[in-house]
Formats: sequence, C-alpha cells, structure tokens
Amino acid sequence: MKITDLKCAVIASSPVLRITTDEGITGWSQIETPKPYLQPIVLQLKDWIVGQNPLHVERVMRRIRVRGGFKPFGSAVSAIEIALWDIAGKAAGLPIHRLLGGKVRDQVRTYRTLYHEPGTKHTVADYVRWAEIAKSLPEKFTMFKLPTSFHSSMVRDVPDFFYGEVQHDAPYPYPHRGAMTENGMKHLIECVTAAKEALGSSYGMAVDAGPGYLPNDALRFAKAVEHLNLMWIEDMITGDYVPFVNPDVYREVTPHTTTPIHTGEQIYLRQNYKPLIESKAVKVIGPDPCDVGGIAELKWIAEYADLHGISMAPHGTANGIFGLASLIQVCATLPDNYIAFEYPARFEPFWYDITEGFDGVPVRNGMIDVPDRPGLGVNLIPEKAKKYLSEGDAGFFD
Ligand SMILES: [Mg+2]
Repeated sequence: MKITDLKCAVIASSPVLRITTDEGITGWSQIETPKPYLQPIVLQLKDWIVGQNPLHVERVMRRIRVRGGFKPFGSAVSAIEIALWDIAGKAAGLPIHRLLGGKVRDQVRTYRTLYHEPGTKHTVADYVRWAEIAKSLPEKFTMFKLPTSFHSSMVRDVPDFFYGEVQHDAPYPYPHRGAMTENGMKHLIECVTAAKEALGSSYGMAVDAGPGYLPNDALRFAKAVEHLNLMWIEDMITGDYVPFVNPDVYREVTPHTTTPIHTGEQIYLRQNYKPLIESKAVKVIGPDPCDVGGIAELKWIAEYADLHGISMAPHGTANGIFGLASLIQVCATLPDNYIAFEYPARFEPFWYDITEGFDGVPVRNGMIDVPDRPGLGVNLIPEKAKKYLSEGDAGFFD
C-alpha cells in the first residue's frame, strides 16, 4: 500500500486531515479547534510521506518527527501519526486499540474541563455556581477540572491578585506571571474551596492554574488545599504553550505537598518527558495525543510513567471528534496509572451529523464505551461535510 495524497481542510477553525492510499483506504485526523493557521504546516509535510507505505507507521514517522515541536507545532506530525493508525486499522479490519496491544478496559473514564460562564468575576459565588452547573450536565461526569488563577481571567478580575502588571490587551495565552499578593492567594483558596465543597466528595476535582506561579506560591497554594483531596493542580510552573519544561523547578513543589502536581500538555515527544518522569518532578502527566507526537507516542510515555509511579490524565479539551476518537482508542490500552482523559467538549454538535461512528455525545455517567469499529471508528461523510468547506478547500474530497 502507498500513500497517494495528504490533504487538509479547515472546518469550523479545525484543520482536518485526509490521507489517501492507492488501495482506496482513507485515514482521518484532526488538529485542535482554534488552530486554522496550522493548515499550511500540515501540507508542507505532504512530500515527505507520499509514496510511503502507511502500514509501516513508525517508518513513516521517522521521516517527519523532526518537523514537530512543542505545542502548537507538534500537532501536524501528531495528526499524521493518528491518520496512519486509522489506515492501518482499517487495512487490518481492527480497531486501533488492537494494534496497540489490545484494550485493557471496555470503558474509558473522561473528565470535563468546565469553563466559567461569560461574565464571571471570579467571586466565591461564581465558583459555587460553577460546581452546580458541573453537577447538572447530562453526561454525568464524575470528575471536573476548574480553570482558575493564572489560567483564567481571575488575574484581571480580582484587584491586586498578584504583583505583576495586568495586561488587558495581551495576546492569548496566559501572559501573566509573578508573585501573588496575600489577598490574591486568600481569595483563590476561598474560591477553590467553595467549588470543591459545593461539588462534594462524590466528584473528583482538578484545578488548572497556570502557568504563571513562582514556586513559593505554587507550594503555598498546593499545601493550603491539601484537605480538599484534589485530583491534581495543573501547570502552575510551566504548561500550556510554554516551550520548555523546567522539571527541577517542579521539584521545589511536588515532593513537599500531598496535592498531586500535574503538567505536560504542551510537551512534544517522549524525550522531553524523560527528565520530568525520571526526576519524578510531577505526580500526574497530561500528554495530548494531538500534540505529543501521536497515540503510540502517548502510550509509550504512559508505560514509562507507570514504571515511575506517575499517573496519566491526558489533555484533549479542543481536539474535536477525531481527537476524541483517538483518545478513546489509546486510553483503552493504557496501564492502571490511567485516571481519565480530558473530554474534547469544544466542538459543535454538527460534527456528529457530518461524520459516522458516534451516535451523538458518547459519554454516559462520565464513561465512554470503547468501540470495536476498524481504525479510529469515525469517518467524515463527504456529502454532508462539503457544505462546511471554504472555497479554497473545495477539492478536499476529490
Ligand atoms: Mg491545561
């Protein structure tokens, strides 16, 4: 079998990949929703893979892995890896989890990052309301993640939250970093405590908090909320869109608190996880299959983390319907250090109409059945998807 083409169309701000072969099998994949600018980066990889045998996934990956980087520049390489597994699964008539060693669970747990309602001012009442909304969601998630402090507009909305300069017109994401004021820290602890108490002990709650903390504040916060039994606090030191890891600075925090410390969504490749895992700089890691280099890459990291007593909670908030499918496939195969993956909640319902494979939102009681359809188990329906293509992408299904 040979790869004949790599195409990429932007549908609702999300670059969708289509790899075609000379045997008529198509591989699908997708890059995070707010990243239309990655379309040309995907397409410049075309010449490196056309003519290659897509069933030799690793052999193809060795040609292009060098062309990725930390988030968002690992996503093109990662998406190609996932589309190759889709082809390999379809060629074998097997779900991808069978090619990765087989599933070890029939259902995978997923958690929901619930963003604050528009207009939130990050008051204690807003955080109680957050918990009430979380508990009312029809998917009945058992675990939620709360964006707060430097990972939210709390930095701007709470006066004198920290000693740095508030940047009102700053480009996304997260430009703020610096020492927190005593009142800022107090307010943060009150809000997080209120949210967890309103949620109750039947639900897991994680906190996405940065990047932006200095290590002293990170430790102070983690220790102050130990009694809340949080699932983890994420990305306080480095994280989302930070192009480095700084494991030694995490070591100033992680060993000194019982609150599990988490990071890793921006990291590309196992080699960049190596120092984080080997120095046990965090207790939970969150590679994203759509950024880390793909699903086999994520599985390798999960196995290595398990050997070191580190848990897995993969990232996925904006991964779209194909990212959801890839998370389900790989998470079905992970060792027992697997906690839950972040549900890709940020895509519109029309995706269920233009694809076949999911019968609407697949979450029941916070769990998703692992499908046994070939490959990823989800395909675009050209006749239905066509109307979402821009003029420039009109030839996507040709
Ligand atoms: Mg995060």
